[in-house]
Amino acid sequence: MTFDLSIRDALVVDGSGQPPRITDVHIEGGRICLIGPGPSGRREIAARGRALAPGFVDVHAHDDAALLSTPGLEFKLRQGVTSVVIGNCGFSLSPLLAGAAEPPGNASLFPGFFERFLDLDAYRDAFVAAGPAVNAISLVGHNAIRSHVMGNDEREPSEAEIASMRGHLRRALEQGAAGFSTGLIYRPGRVATTAEIIEVARPLAEYQALFTTHMRSEGDRLLESVEETLRIADAVGCRAQISHHKAGGKRNWGKVKASLARIDSANRAGADVSLDVYPYIAGSGPMIEYFDPLKIDLSLAEIIQIASCPGRPAYDGRRLTEIAASEGLGLAELVQRILELPGAERTVAITFMMAEEDVETNLRHPRVMVGSDGLPNPEGRPHPRLYGTFPRVISEYGRKRGLFTLEAAVAKMSSLPCERFGLRDRGRIAVGQFADLLLFDPETIVDRATYAEPKQYPTGIDLVLVNGSIAVEGGRTTDVRAGRLLRFNK
Ligand SMILES: [Zn+2]
Repeated sequence: MTFDLSIRDALVVDGSGQPPRITDVHIEGGRICLIGPGPSGRREIAARGRALAPGFVDVHAHDDAALLSTPGLEFKLRQGVTSVVIGNCGFSLSPLLAGAAEPPGNASLFPGFFERFLDLDAYRDAFVAAGPAVNAISLVGHNAIRSHVMGNDEREPSEAEIASMRGHLRRALEQGAAGFSTGLIYRPGRVATTAEIIEVARPLAEYQALFTTHMRSEGDRLLESVEETLRIADAVGCRAQISHHKAGGKRNWGKVKASLARIDSANRAGADVSLDVYPYIAGSGPMIEYFDPLKIDLSLAEIIQIASCPGRPAYDGRRLTEIAASEGLGLAELVQRILELPGAERTVAITFMMAEEDVETNLRHPRVMVGSDGLPNPEGRPHPRLYGTFPRVISEYGRKRGLFTLEAAVAKMSSLPCERFGLRDRGRIAVGQFADLLLFDPETIVDRATYAEPKQYPTGIDLVLVNGSIAVEGGRTTDVRAGRLLRFNK
């Protein structure tokens, strides 16, 4: 008897949160088939001194288009990410039709990608044809559904339109979606009432699928927004996930404590709410969605760095305050000009809005997992979270600051997300689980992406397996692309 692959003497951090132990892991037919001593494999890997963990799951990705257009997804794979959750913040590539109405945010979330799909099965066909290097599971976005059904009109839907939106959600769930996402600060979702979200989200209960939400406010009205989320989940009878939980804006710093306390008390009373966070103090998103051109918010402009500005690439990587000073412009005037440049709908901003202490409070919480929220834009200088998130949780927040043990960090990035997003046979090193794995040096693994030089891969990760196939070896990507579009399996 011999197996496809045997990894010897690894420090196995199995995803359960239990202390690691040194042993062998054997793989056959894409799955883990034996843990412990066994016969020589057709391929042997000596792993002494390195840790073997379940592949990381990025629960908050916007890789919907990148999976099809740049299927190597090296920026994810080289962080040890083997699965991504797409369709976040209300934005998914289905249900939509190319050339028809779609959410304005799509231009910067999916830059240079113009294919659209009528349903998740149509997206699945394109996914299979592209053959990405990592697995994905999709949410279906409220912004997408709403634009598809009623255009970008800022009005209330009719009964018939509600029923049609609900039908699209049901169809996506039938086709394997993990749940329904909202982006309630973005167009057109921000005009939706709580009642509209509840009525559209109804099918989630039947499928035991997840309601995920970029809430209506992540600053001044954070606590009210948490109440809205709890109300929606309670009315629908579903589990909820609060996306990129934060308290933005100096006057709101510290509020995450009250927000988490409220969620804890709701969970004790029978709700089922979890959250995700990225390990940085800056956020990032489409600049046109942040500003009302008639009333430029200067306190926001003061904390913005341009990630990519297609109309003026010389701005990429620079703070607005610095550009304004060097061009002799007022800040409001500069923002106004940027919003009027050709291609302004694709301009992406990085916003330094959080307190480091809040990031730590979030990461420490047992119901908080990790989502990069990375915007995979080949242009400019993207937020470093795109290249650094997962190693950074281990190196900066685990090893350096001592927020948690290695095994706790790994659980947060593997088993916890798999339980929440219905990836039943992934997220742990156990017999029968798919062999999504990474091998790394726990003493040296480190993120290298910075705000100035974001496109830098982490170091310390030697080997990444996706569905039992070697996708990264000796720290470099192979040509193997073994990712699958997964189906929700609660
Ligand atoms: Zn979001």
